[in-house]
Amino acid sequence: LPELPEVETVRRGLHRRLIGRTVRSVEVRRADLRWPLPKDLAPRLKGRRLVQVGRRGKYLLLEFAPGPALPNQVLLIHLGMTGRLIVRAKAGPGKRPLKGAAPERKTAPETAHEHVVFGFDDGQELAFADPRRFGSIDLVAMADLDRHPRLRDLGPDPFPNAPAPDRLLAALKGRTTSIKAALTDQKLMAGLGNIYVSEILHEAMISPRRPANKVSDADAEALSAAIRKVLGEGVAAGGASLRDYVQANGDLGNFQAQFKVYDREGHPCPRCGQPIKRVEQGGRATFYCARCQR
Ligand SMILES: [Zn+2]
Repeated sequence: LPELPEVETVRRGLHRRLIGRTVRSVEVRRADLRWPLPKDLAPRLKGRRLVQVGRRGKYLLLEFAPGPALPNQVLLIHLGMTGRLIVRAKAGPGKRPLKGAAPERKTAPETAHEHVVFGFDDGQELAFADPRRFGSIDLVAMADLDRHPRLRDLGPDPFPNAPAPDRLLAALKGRTTSIKAALTDQKLMAGLGNIYVSEILHEAMISPRRPANKVSDADAEALSAAIRKVLGEGVAAGGASLRDYVQANGDLGNFQAQFKVYDREGHPCPRCGQPIKRVEQGGRATFYCARCQR
């Protein structure tokens, strides 16, 4: 599932490819994804220039310049479990390929799951594909963004600025759940999930089963540093592997190579050699080293 580093990678890709471009067409192929799609997506976006691509936790925020009688609009996108954003040169009828250009690629099977397609003034298209449809798209006035039901309860985003140790301590103090559950709670911190919390806790040498309120000053220091390091490395790996197109899908692809504990049950801990354990916590798999994470 896409977590903060994957979504940040997609954000950078969208910025690189589409910033400054104006929407020429919006094709909505179904009424809903996880939530209903806005009915007036096309009239509110056509003719608008993309001025910023932001992110809050796992949400992408595409901001469009104001138009006649409408203030800035923000397209809010969540990739859910299987959502992908694909940027491509438009290959419509009557468009002849440039001389010497690579031959047009065959239509991928997932085109069937492309639910919304935006066309831009330079001929590029942005498609949102999502086979399982746990993703979402909404359009909201910039001024209403902080009140949006999907955003208003989100905690601070830990990238690029990791939370300070004292803020982490304060946030964890009142919680009796496991630290794993606390750190995946989007209200405490937005953007982390199963994968990166497993990696962060291994880096900080804290057991995922430890109660959140049993974190010391030293643990909070280690946790803050681990969040900075693991997310930084995740974003760096994503930027390197998703070079020329924008895509975040359910499989872990190139990110997987660098995981130290996630999905590595039975493999030696890179720090101490003890086999990595897998446990269920709240119905989700957690991976950790029982020797060096206490
Ligand atoms: Zn270990």
